[in-house]
Amino acid sequence: MVLLTAHMDHIGIRKPVNGNDIYNGADDDASGCIAVLQLARTLAHGKPPRHTVIFAFFGSEETGGQGDQYFLEHPPVPLNNIVANLEFEMIGRADPAVKPDQLWLTGYDRTNLGPELAHHGAKLVADPHPDQNFFQRSDNYALARKGIVAQTVSSFGLHHDYHQPSDDVAHVDFAHMEQAIHSMMKPVQWLANSKFKPEWVQGKKP
Ligand SMILES: [Zn+2]
Repeated sequence: MVLLTAHMDHIGIRKPVNGNDIYNGADDDASGCIAVLQLARTLAHGKPPRHTVIFAFFGSEETGGQGDQYFLEHPPVPLNNIVANLEFEMIGRADPAVKPDQLWLTGYDRTNLGPELAHHGAKLVADPHPDQNFFQRSDNYALARKGIVAQTVSSFGLHHDYHQPSDDVAHVDFAHMEQAIHSMMKPVQWLANSKFKPEWVQGKKP
């Protein structure tokens, strides 16, 4: 089975900034939720894929990953049946650290999943911000610690609206987001239909 995920929570109502106390989370992570919804829509319209595909929207990522922990404690299928998890996080703007049409994958060198997806058309490169430890900072990490090949797709360019009320819809680059989601369609369809079972690079499993 292939697991596609995003987190649907953000950080709620907090200290007002310029009179606005609603922290919208348009990029973090409504953008990732839209990606998962669109991938679900596309896969549901085609011929049933070889793998079962599970679409999960986790809650409470921002408060410590309670949603992904609940999923791991109450998995809908045996966890060792999940061959790969792709989490989608913050794809609402392009990252100036990579080419405008590229996305990056956390923990790129830890498994052979990123290179294989890239080989099948994904515009996916290594995370250009390794000092940020993004591999450890999303829902994928709890799954990876259970041994599942689980990584996050993103184009977060360290913009200053991160965890601010100004992470709102006015700052979403829809042309980028549409292109980003579209670029993952065929690679995800390939993964869902392939016999390929992603593996950890020796010594790189958390
Ligand atoms: Zn997030």
